[in-house]
Amino acid sequence: MNTGHDPDIPGLLRPSGPEVDCDIAVIGAGMGGATLAYALRDSGARVLVVERGDFLPREAANWSPHAVFTEKRYRNAEHWYDAGTGRRFQPGVHYYVGGNTKVFGATLPRFREADFGPVRHAEGLSRAWPFPYAELEPYYAEAERIYRVHGTAGQDPTEPWRSGGFPYPAVPHEPAVAALADALRAQGLAPFDLPTGIDLRPDGACVRCATCDGFPCLLGAKSDADVCALRPALASGNVSLLTRTTVTGLRTDPPGRRVTVAAARHDGTELRIRADRYVLACGAVNTAALLLRSRNGRHEGLANSSGQVGRNYMVHNSTFLVAVDPRHPSRTVFQKTLGLNDWYLANGAHGPLGNVQTLGKLGPATARGLHPRLPTPLLEFLTGHSVDLYLTSEDLPAPDNRVTVDPSGAIRVGWRPVNLAPHRELVRRTARMMRRAGYPLISARRMGIDVTSHQCGTAVAGADPATSVVDPTCKAHDLNNLWIADSSWFPSSAAVNPGLTIAANALRVAEKGGLR
Ligand SMILES: Cc1cc2nc3c(=O)[nH]c(=O)nc-3n(C[C@H](O)[C@H](O)[C@H](O)COP(=O)(O)OP(=O)(O)OC[C@H]3O[C@@H](n4cnc5c(N)ncnc54)[C@H](O)[C@@H]3O)c2cc1C
Ligand code: SF4
Repeated sequence: MNTGHDPDIPGLLRPSGPEVDCDIAVIGAGMGGATLAYALRDSGARVLVVERGDFLPREAANWSPHAVFTEKRYRNAEHWYDAGTGRRFQPGVHYYVGGNTKVFGATLPRFREADFGPVRHAEGLSRAWPFPYAELEPYYAEAERIYRVHGTAGQDPTEPWRSGGFPYPAVPHEPAVAALADALRAQGLAPFDLPTGIDLRPDGACVRCATCDGFPCLLGAKSDADVCALRPALASGNVSLLTRTTVTGLRTDPPGRRVTVAAARHDGTELRIRADRYVLACGAVNTAALLLRSRNGRHEGLANSSGQVGRNYMVHNSTFLVAVDPRHPSRTVFQKTLGLNDWYLANGAHGPLGNVQTLGKLGPATARGLHPRLPTPLLEFLTGHSVDLYLTSEDLPAPDNRVTVDPSGAIRVGWRPVNLAPHRELVRRTARMMRRAGYPLISARRMGIDVTSHQCGTAVAGADPATSVVDPTCKAHDLNNLWIADSSWFPSSAAVNPGLTIAANALRVAEKGGLR
């Protein structure tokens, strides 16, 4: 490659000319891209990971609620637009080595086996995946090892079958969460230990602080894609990384069957990246936007003969529920250890409702976004006496829920939530459950278009090129040398956190897609 190496980080390149070449170019260094690079580290190919962001600095502000939530210090994405209202908004997207996992909550469940089939919901059908759970299971197991997942098998009634136990024992509940788990069991429910990626191994650095979910880890103890996948990949000597390099378009050969160049900007300078094979892992919205910006005269957007690029945008229907017991102060520090799937599968007239899990402990700065008008002392009192929950229900694929790029190049997101009635029922049941468990005051706030954490579905996978963008191995139907390894390819969103599924599939793409 026509580049110079950075002596401090193995594999970190600084381009010394207008062109870089490699065998496989992976665009995006988040959960999908970094895990794919990890899978290819011993493949013999020269792998180049291209990332628009830089390394997220380790600094005291990592753990400052004011810096992270009030000043939004690490929110570095450009504004997007709500296609319905025209409103400009700042998406919850983070452009760094490690992508959104630098700030994620590190809850790493597998999808349920039923999620891979067609699922009838109250408001429509969730599509079947083009391969069964059994195909992904060995990759889930490997991803759990890579991301040091701590958990307990056999507690969750909806848990899919596993070829082995969790790599590490579950993160123990703190007293208030353990008491809540007991109270839920007394109601006949089956709370379980959340599968979690934090480093609590015997020599692990995690101190179980209150500033994990939504914050970067000052100690590097969170199982993010930078720490667990990209750094080991770079250390192999076969993987290189270009940071501060945004890919702006993909160019093809005249028949439009092969990508020949990725046009990019590195620190404001034009750069051409030549590779035999290209993998997109920019996150579901940015991957769709990049394909749409790469018009080749044949279709509107590259890999888009189906017209499906950008469509079927899904993001989960989600609610933050704060349950307050004004009589007892909460002393919980690391709260995110409990899950509940009792209403995950079809449940009478309402159909499947979704997942309930504890959030990272809210404080006044983190709760401010939910209740902008409440005075700080009141927020302090409420979050000082609360258990905080995150509720997610499946968002169904709808062709008109759609990412587009306007003539100025800005991203527009059209999203009308689908399947809201079951989500409301999930909120109702959870509120009732929490009141019975001793929390008489409940506040519930549903998340809107700005909360883009669980985005997926914008370049759906399937066997039929007329209705899908990539084939079951995540190779573009229209092109011979382009794959996708983030969550764009998800045919449905399921209702649990997507990170482990993105990672497991990236490992699968490396092997089944013939990349190694
Ligand atoms: C606050 C928060 C909490 C979360 N908690 C959880 C959780 O507990 N569990 C869970 O499973 N998931 C969680 N998520 C979601 C999870 O982080 C994402 O699902 C996951 O990171 C998506 O992986 P990805 O590879 O698709 O995209 P990302 O991880 O976002 O990576 C995409 C990368 O591509 C880069 N990029 C984008 N465009 C370009 C371009 N044109 N050129 C070059 N580079 C580009 C970006 O900078 C980024 O680094 C959370 C997310 C957030 C924001
Ligand atoms: S809880 Fe552990 S992994 Fe999370 S930020 Fe704190 S030290 Fe890091």
